[in-house]
Amino acid sequence: MKIAVIGTGYVGLVTGTCFAETGVTVTCIDNDNEKVKSLIEGSVPIYEPGLESLIKRGMEKRRLSFSSSIETGIVDAEVIFIAVGTPPGQDGSADLGNVLKVAEEIGASLKNYSVIATKSTVPVGTSEKIRTAIKKQLAKRGAEIGFDVASNPEFLKEGSAVEDFLRPERIVVGVDNEKTAEIMKRLYMPFVLNNHLILFMDIASAEITKYAANCMLATRISFINEIANLCDILGADINEVRKGIGSDSRIGGKFLYPGTGYGGSCFPKDVKALAKTAKDHGYEMKVISAVELANEIQKNVIFNKIMNFFGNRLKGTSFGIWGLSFKPQTDDIRESSSIYLINKLLSEGATIKAYDPAAIEETKKVLGDRIGYCDDPYQAIKGVDAMVLMTEWSDFHLPSFSKMANLMRKKVIFDGRNIYDPSEIKKQGFTYFGIGRR
Ligand code: NAD
Repeated sequence: MKIAVIGTGYVGLVTGTCFAETGVTVTCIDNDNEKVKSLIEGSVPIYEPGLESLIKRGMEKRRLSFSSSIETGIVDAEVIFIAVGTPPGQDGSADLGNVLKVAEEIGASLKNYSVIATKSTVPVGTSEKIRTAIKKQLAKRGAEIGFDVASNPEFLKEGSAVEDFLRPERIVVGVDNEKTAEIMKRLYMPFVLNNHLILFMDIASAEITKYAANCMLATRISFINEIANLCDILGADINEVRKGIGSDSRIGGKFLYPGTGYGGSCFPKDVKALAKTAKDHGYEMKVISAVELANEIQKNVIFNKIMNFFGNRLKGTSFGIWGLSFKPQTDDIRESSSIYLINKLLSEGATIKAYDPAAIEETKKVLGDRIGYCDDPYQAIKGVDAMVLMTEWSDFHLPSFSKMANLMRKKVIFDGRNIYDPSEIKKQGFTYFGIGRR
């Protein structure tokens, strides 16, 4: 079987590579020529555990190739995945510019029957727009080539994307006919044989499922953040509360960790986009809107604690930031609360040094020389007034507090992920601030 994947980012590259691993012949296509060139030369543009070796194997076995041309890349492909970005537009709705441009290009060069399956997260109705765009281009060149559309939203998590793709909790496929379902079933057969759940449904339901999943997860985060903030006010400990509620099987303990607000390339835009879709159809989603508002407020939680501690004056202060990516095990800094905090601290006149195991190069593209970048976490806290933990990379879990105490000007820790034990830290002579910790 031969397939093509258009868009070679976090989702497209993992999708193409993992399908190649199952024996499928895959062409990954991207309009970023530099990215394609570096992939062909064997360099992987993103940090994702386990991905590099699979790409190497796929290329060696000649099952995985890269191209910057849709026209040549889709030849003979039975399934063409669209996995390009869908960033938020000005009004919060998903910007479908990339998706529809790709659909037009597919229509302009399609030569054989294909299923056009959308992996990008897109609002209800997008598959129909893709169908229309392709048809229009086919009509323009008088080509009578059959095709079908499908919605195949992706649920992988950055940081464990390869594992999530190869061992999915479920695969969702939205189709409107049996032929498309059969082709998608054949493609996913290796996963089905391994007992991974595949759910076929109508296209609109598949499109909504992705948004509903992300919004549910975002809701849990905003919920536990609010409870943590209340714990702060009332002198309770969120960790005790979290265990207390998580042990109820109806609630469960996963995804109930308070922090500095959700970020990344998905939750913020998907929450906004679902609310906008509903609004466009005359329905106001009150829970989803509140989730977003709560998150905007939560992004300031550490900044407010810092301002409070330093008497609202940060001029002349310096901070060592541990963690820049929006979560561990990725170099993705899109909507990262660490970058948000750094910008706020800089605007108050503070000086920043930062360390991250993977995201420094990405951060340099955004912050340039406005902050100092360090090769190890201890270098980042030398002479600072406080250390701020913003991403819970495992490297940060068990630091040498005595070494830290010797390096820092003031022994103050702001723990934006609650990874340290406040009483332990206080024993080491540090002033500690977590989120919702007594
Ligand atoms: P990304 O920005 O990492 O990658 C998108 C890629 O598409 C880029 O390499 C870009 O150059 C390419 N591209 C854009 N326009 C193109 C065009 N016209 N022709 C060819 N290539 C083009 O994005 P991503 O994080 O992989 O996300 C892709 C989609 O998947 C989004 O809709 C996102 O919401 C969804 N999604 C993302 C994740 C995630 O964890 N990142 C998880 C599930 C779903």
